[in-house]
Amino acid sequence: MNLEKEIDLVYKVRENAYVPYSNFRVGAVLKAKSGKIYTGCNIENHGIQAICAERVAFTKALSEGERNFEYILVAGGIGKEIPKEECLPCGYCRQFMSEFVNKNFKIYVAFEDEVKEYTMEDLLPYSFKLEK
Ligand code: ZN
Repeated sequence: MNLEKEIDLVYKVRENAYVPYSNFRVGAVLKAKSGKIYTGCNIENHGIQAICAERVAFTKALSEGERNFEYILVAGGIGKEIPKEECLPCGYCRQFMSEFVNKNFKIYVAFEDEVKEYTMEDLLPYSFKLEK
């Protein structure tokens, strides 16, 4: 899959991260099946209520009525330079995303000139689910 435009976008949205405490900037680009793109960046505060880029992108999309998603692209690292290493979604975000996607949902991680591809199942093989 050609993600060139989305990679430019994920690096751009990282610049919006509000990270006065860690300087660890994360961007996320979420593609809904409607075709719309939702972006997110991480937002810290002096308490412990920081929110990750992935959940910002998802909550933006969900609050607009989206419920079906194609993939998410994530990039993160210290400072504004292009990250040298991959930054995988945290455990909280993995569980959060698993509510809305199936095990084949793609999670792309961009760094330097690489993009690694994972599935939800790769990153969260045993998610918590309430039996219905
Ligand atoms: Zn997270």
